[in-house]
Amino acid sequence: ALFSHDAQRVFDDIDRHFQLSKETLVELTQAFIDEYRLGLGSYGKPMAMIPTFVTGVPDGTETGTFLALDLGGTNLRVCEVVLNGDKTFSLRQQKYRVSEELKTGEATALFDYLADSVDAFLTENTPSEPIPPMRVPTMPIPGSQDVVHLGLTFSFPVEQTALGAGKILTWTKGFSAKNAIGHDVVQLLQDAFDRKHLHVKCVALVNDTVGALLSRAYTAGGCILGAIFGTGTNGAFVEQVANITKLGNSDAAAKGGLMVVNTEWGAFNNSRSHLPSTPFDNALDRRSINPRFQAFEKFVSGMYLGEIARNIIMALIDAAPKPLLLSGKFTPLLNTQWGLDTSVMSDIENAWEGEKRTEPSSEDHMPPFTEFDESKLSENTKARLQRVRTTMVQRLGYEDEDVTLRDAAIVKWACGLIARRAALLSGVAVAATLIQTGRASLPAGHDNITSSEGAEKEEKIGVGVDGSLIEHYPHFERMMRESLKILVGEHIEKRVDIGMAKDGSGVGAALCALMASKEM
Ligand code: ADP
Repeated sequence: ALFSHDAQRVFDDIDRHFQLSKETLVELTQAFIDEYRLGLGSYGKPMAMIPTFVTGVPDGTETGTFLALDLGGTNLRVCEVVLNGDKTFSLRQQKYRVSEELKTGEATALFDYLADSVDAFLTENTPSEPIPPMRVPTMPIPGSQDVVHLGLTFSFPVEQTALGAGKILTWTKGFSAKNAIGHDVVQLLQDAFDRKHLHVKCVALVNDTVGALLSRAYTAGGCILGAIFGTGTNGAFVEQVANITKLGNSDAAAKGGLMVVNTEWGAFNNSRSHLPSTPFDNALDRRSINPRFQAFEKFVSGMYLGEIARNIIMALIDAAPKPLLLSGKFTPLLNTQWGLDTSVMSDIENAWEGEKRTEPSSEDHMPPFTEFDESKLSENTKARLQRVRTTMVQRLGYEDEDVTLRDAAIVKWACGLIARRAALLSGVAVAATLIQTGRASLPAGHDNITSSEGAEKEEKIGVGVDGSLIEHYPHFERMMRESLKILVGEHIEKRVDIGMAKDGSGVGAALCALMASKEM
């Protein structure tokens, strides 16, 4: 279609391929639930549905002081968390950069760096804010008072065998450190601590989604789902042990009750049979370090949305016989794979929004770009597009005169398409979880389970979220709720209480370290 004299058809085609109809959303949700159930039934399925051995959620009364280490996002974080027992906590943290070399080199080098960072945190004072002498965490373990207990938030697929043990299954999000897959991540870290003679014991291993779930449960007094929409996307929810049939006749299965499951939902659609992908998605996937894996994540999360936008923009710039955007001019940044960060899309949409958040209007959608006439724009629209243009100049490296208001409108439109699709798909994941846990059902004729306990009750359904995308992308939550409404009905959607799990990884790891300490 890009090789066409009919410019409007090119825009219309792109627009159409990014839309998700109600029918598609319902089908995707059903497929999502099917993959949930497949993963709960056996190991080695695309959606890993990892049992976490976390058998309950906190209620806000927990107390103690713990160290937490968080690896899996853009930064490595070390924090000290004090749980006050009244739904509040205090936290002191330090971030450290993880270089590309560490991400892709030898695993021992990566884990030595983690240990060094903890060491630095415990010994160094930050210049701006002198740290009081480190309180020894209140660990009631006889004879080991000087050992600090640490919870590790490790946001990669791990086959967990206990609260404090788990084998690394695969790397995601640009990591590929060698000699790590198949090894126990807690042991790798503990060995690094021991090599450096640190008095730190890693007692708990948590995924960031589990952290979000636990910390939201602590601060809100309850929660059923923790979900991340940041560099990657993933979710963890509270499941009946009886439904996790792959636990077979293990001790955990015999105990029954509840267990948090880390879904690894980023892998939904690895079979490529469900999500309607566009050439822009396919190009991204082909050039990624993990083609065909983390398929859902590539439609939804911060690491990828900017690249999809870049692919659309570049295709329009490259279009023949005539460029359809920016007179065919590109910048070094746009010409570089991963050069366009998702935060640029966010900035573009914020520029369009202006100071006050407005309700969506017909202006938000695509005007017919081929009939675009600056002189016919309202003053308001002109001002909005001028702000978008300024953002493009600032963030994409164009000269002011290179960018027309029409270019600004097209780029804003492309960002909107991608973000809206991502948010609607995020709603699919939440809806699938509500249905799987018996709190909702799909529109009649689709789901094979009728909603059971909890469905009649009017109480809130807690969802703890974290990640820059849901925190900062304009209207992300509103659009996510749009698909929730379609999928589970407005009466359920209204009860869904979506709240940021602030500092989720730190507080969640601390809560998990507390649970592990109690079991010791
Ligand atoms: P992580 O998931 O790595 O812990 P974040 O939640 O901050 O960290 O997510 C980082 C991702 O979010 C990056 O991919 C980045 O492109 C994207 N991002 C950063 N800032 C914004 C923003 N203002 N709006 C939308 N996305 C953002």
